[in-house]
Amino acid sequence: MLLRCTECGALISDNGISKHDLFHRSVEIEQLRESTREAHGVLKDLRTATVAAKNLVHELTNAVVTEQLEAAVEAGLEEYKTTLATAIDSATKAIFDRFDKIAKLLMGEDKQSVRAGKPSIPELAERMKRESPSVP
Ligand SMILES: [Zn+2]
Repeated sequence: MLLRCTECGALISDNGISKHDLFHRSVEIEQLRESTREAHGVLKDLRTATVAAKNLVHELTNAVVTEQLEAAVEAGLEEYKTTLATAIDSATKAIFDRFDKIAKLLMGEDKQSVRAGKPSIPELAERMKRESPSVP
């Protein structure tokens, strides 16, 4: 007696059903193996893509951090330049003020020194001229 296969429509003798069924199952197994190989390939590609994405994130993060550090250093240097210029200016002014004060003391223009009887440079020169007229 012949039977028709419900899967492929082939005519099979009733004593060959299990053999024909085995043929269909082996085809399915081979298809499953092929699908598994493809899935492994996709998984491998996915892992490669994940590693590449992680590397990219790492590089971008490094680039962003480097950029932020450079900006912070630049801003710090700019602020330092301003602070340094201000410090130099005020130190220079302090030195000039000090020299002006010393000059006033030496030239007898400082009232406090005059009151204290401290002689000025012109007075000392006058005194030296009087006491030792031979010295030029
Ligand atoms: Zn069949």
